[in-house]
Amino acid sequence: MRWFYRCPACGAEYDIEPGRYLCDPCGARNAPGLPLEGVLECHWDGFSVSGPKDIPLPVEREHFPPLPVGDTPLWKPGRLRKETGFPRLWLKDDTCNPSGSFKDRASYLVAAFAAKHGITEIALASTGNAASSMACVGAAAGLKVTVFLPAEAPAAKRIQVLQYGAELKEVDGTYDLAFDLSLAYSLKTGVLSRNTAYNPLTIEGKKTASFEMARSLGREGERGPDHVFVPTGDGVILAGVYRGFEDLLRLGEIEHMPTVWACQAQGSSAIARALESGFFGPPVPSDTIADSIAVDVPRNGIYALAKLKKYGGRAVVVGDDEILEAQRALSAGSGLFAEPSSACAWAGFLKARAGIDPGDLVVVMITGSGLKDIKNAARAVGAKA
Ligand SMILES: *Cc1c(COP(=O)(O)O)cnc(C)c1O
Repeated sequence: MRWFYRCPACGAEYDIEPGRYLCDPCGARNAPGLPLEGVLECHWDGFSVSGPKDIPLPVEREHFPPLPVGDTPLWKPGRLRKETGFPRLWLKDDTCNPSGSFKDRASYLVAAFAAKHGITEIALASTGNAASSMACVGAAAGLKVTVFLPAEAPAAKRIQVLQYGAELKEVDGTYDLAFDLSLAYSLKTGVLSRNTAYNPLTIEGKKTASFEMARSLGREGERGPDHVFVPTGDGVILAGVYRGFEDLLRLGEIEHMPTVWACQAQGSSAIARALESGFFGPPVPSDTIADSIAVDVPRNGIYALAKLKKYGGRAVVVGDDEILEAQRALSAGSGLFAEPSSACAWAGFLKARAGIDPGDLVVVMITGSGLKDIKNAARAVGAKA
């Protein structure tokens, strides 16, 4: 099997090797305040599925660290099916990854890449979950992890980073500032960057969720999803989900590309706005309680927008009140307690469902545990944290 990076904008190809992040000519166009140009895509030739859990990935199995990432459950939420009138509704529950979020899928592949190449240090910026995730996976793998985190990140995510023994650099500012500082740190020290979108493996690692969804549904006698609701900030989960379905189409495991919905908070909706207008305007300071999807500049915006346009993807925007109400309703209606970003996907489905055929198969991606942000969850139920 052959693996390589390809630039979706200009078609240039590169080896998958340490030090390679963006496409050279396209990355040279990068400017402050705009989504990343030149984000690369992993490609393969000559893969065939050899077992029920076989997924094409650019790092061999033996390099993955010893902790159980992925293979997360797909719930049949009986009461919510009745309440919403969607008998083929499913919840993809990524709260049960080791660090409590979907981000472990990306950290897992980046850690495997590091192991393969004898790399011992990784740095990254995060709104919270990527940091706690890389710290967690790094602890299992024996990697030194340095994270740049906004000082106002939820306490649980910060404490996770410290518990897992990573180095915490608190940033007095937004995630966007943390992103720039961490990149400068990686460039100066040569430490491997796990910055989301910038490192193409962060996209590739997330595609595993699509394989699991399609195959779990297959075992239930279903033909693959019609709609997938994805909580969206930087647009890397969205892109990874598309990559997975592209692979599945190529391998003949599904018959059509689902309609993927980018679910965004009103106060951080750059991708939804760009899908409407066709371009990314100047950054708007983010303002939402859903910290994991709060970004001024969606780093993977250009790439995510291209996929949405290519496949007829949609966007849905919800306010913080709707997110908090959806969080409470999801917990009480299904037993799945999600953090606000993931509740945004549930709120997005509730808002969009009027325009969807109730016979369609819908998957809502629940990406992070509610225990990661108790302060906002307390607000939703009128309690003190
Ligand atoms: C990071 C994150 C998201 C959003 O992912 P993007 O790739 O930034 O769009 C959604 N939910 C959770 C729990 C996250 O940690």
